[in-house]
Amino acid sequence: MTDCLFCKIVNREIPAALIHEDDQLVAFRDINPQAPTHVLIVPRRHIATLNDLGADADGIVGTIVRRAAAIARDEGFAEAGYRTVFNCNADGGQTVFHIHLHLLGGRPLTWPPG
Ligand code: 5GP
Ligand code: ZN
Repeated sequence: MTDCLFCKIVNREIPAALIHEDDQLVAFRDINPQAPTHVLIVPRRHIATLNDLGADADGIVGTIVRRAAAIARDEGFAEAGYRTVFNCNADGGQTVFHIHLHLLGGRPLTWPPG
């Protein structure tokens, strides 16, 4: 999608601190980190919200979640713990409408979220 911020990052049209990419997804550091490690994992394919997921996306969603666990291991906090979040639409706090999994770690995180 031409007017999507994360499509532009995926396509290298705007810069980001990439930490992983493969044929299905891209992972990069959040520009406004909320924890010592705050990574966003996005599918290469444009999907606006979780509400737009079809059964054909089951594979990519699983791959995104497993990539979050792999990055947590690489960043050294897999055993200590971490949080993964998909925000959806206004009440969920979604501001970029290309699905992305937040990976937050490196400090204790409180619950419930705000
Ligand atoms: P959302 O609120 O949609 O769940 O999350 C969007 C996230 O994207 C926010 O945490 C925000 O800081 C991050 N973000 C917004 N613009 C950029 C950008 O240009 N580059 C990077 N790396 N992150 C961004
Ligand atoms: Zn997009």
